[in-house]
Amino acid sequence: MRSRYVAYALKNAKYIYQTYAQEKQAENPVKEIADFANSCRFIKLAVINTEQQQSNAEVEFCVSYFYQSLFCQLHERSSFIKEDGQWRYLDGEIFPVADIKVSRNDECPCGSGKKYKKCHNV
Ligand SMILES: [Zn+2]
Repeated sequence: MRSRYVAYALKNAKYIYQTYAQEKQAENPVKEIADFANSCRFIKLAVINTEQQQSNAEVEFCVSYFYQSLFCQLHERSSFIKEDGQWRYLDGEIFPVADIKVSRNDECPCGSGKKYKKCHNV
């Protein structure tokens, strides 16, 4: 799961695609993954809870990122399955979190204490 987050942050769409469960790969083409990853500036990953069994696992996490001038959080409980010895993402349940519109002079929501325009605004 962490490796998938890192791959999103590094915009490594191929890795994200390959770590989808086989049955999910067709509906998640590499290009769509790349478009999403390229449109976001990722800030942090917080793992809230994990439960792991032999061939399936659940991970609850919260990812913070900017999309345009919105500060977004994805809070999700994901299911992973083990295929070919590798953990792969099957699906997830999303807990809705409202996006926050950030203005240039606001304090940056990343927690740096700087103004947004001097921090994560691009
Ligand atoms: Zn910032």
